[in-house]
Amino acid sequence: MIVVMHRGASAPEIDAVCQRLSNAGFTLHLSQGVERTIIGAVGEKSRATVSGLEALPGVEKVVPILQPYKLAGRDFHQEDTVVNLGNVAIGGNQCQVFAGPCAVESWEQLLEAALVVKESGANILRGGAFKPRSSPYSFQGLEEQGLKLLAKAREATGLKIVTEVLDAANIERIGYYSDILQVGARNMQNFYLLRELAKVDRPVLLKRGMAATVEEWLMAAEYLVSGGNDRVILCERGIRTFETATRNTLDLSAIPVVKQLSHLPVIVDPSHATGKWQLVGPLARAAIAAGADGVMIEVHPHPAMALCDGPQSLTPQNFTALMAELRAVARVMGKQL
Ligand code: PEP
Ligand code: MN
Repeated sequence: MIVVMHRGASAPEIDAVCQRLSNAGFTLHLSQGVERTIIGAVGEKSRATVSGLEALPGVEKVVPILQPYKLAGRDFHQEDTVVNLGNVAIGGNQCQVFAGPCAVESWEQLLEAALVVKESGANILRGGAFKPRSSPYSFQGLEEQGLKLLAKAREATGLKIVTEVLDAANIERIGYYSDILQVGARNMQNFYLLRELAKVDRPVLLKRGMAATVEEWLMAAEYLVSGGNDRVILCERGIRTFETATRNTLDLSAIPVVKQLSHLPVIVDPSHATGKWQLVGPLARAAIAAGADGVMIEVHPHPAMALCDGPQSLTPQNFTALMAELRAVARVMGKQL
């Protein structure tokens, strides 16, 4: 880290900072200009050391050089992480499509969606059994029954299953019926839930919180990796901005930014990002072109009848057409889909 001293900081103030740093085991490099002194400190920093430093007299600011997300970041892990799930690889030169209804509603609905997902060549079926709804009066999901239907769809199609976990008490049950555990945007900073998911032998799909910075998102991933679960897939799903023309604002720039900062695979959910099925195709294509490792798309056999998120759900026909387009974009990016 670099400690920038105030203009005119006194020699005893500079000495006190140096003393504190060398006591904490840092190697120091002092740069004493005419107006100010800058102290370069090399070593393992702890939060306590840094926050304490900022309170010392004469210190203007402390600038960390390395990222705080040590295990999720690229500083100490250069190669891309590939999350392997049997014969399905997420990351690397593969592009994966996670698709299916917002919520599991019935066996007929789920099977119809699953068959379309399978026939179009996608490998992962999504579907919520526990739904985090803004209104307590909205459909909350079929819960255990929904999980059983997801497992039945897996058996019928061979697709992998991703579904959302809302609370720690249900992790084991949901892990039993599914392959990937999803943490929704509303729970990205539920640190207790993250700590529990870190102990589980299942990949975690970690959605970006609707008002989370990239750093906060990667620190949430750090909870999982540092707790023992390095099979983390990040998912950009749009953030809250002043714009009301779309449900959220898809932060496409987050893809190359996160790719630079982290070795973890990143996918994009254009369905929740836009809230409108007409916008899903253009943004899914853009996501792959921007370097995403895959996309998550809501598909419903009859969007007009959907109990949840019908307006952003693709029909089977539109989804099948989109898959062909995504395959072409992936090819341009040197990836397989
Ligand atoms: C979902 O994918 O079902 C969902 C609720 O998305 P988000 O957490 O991104 O709102
Ligand atoms: Mn949804």
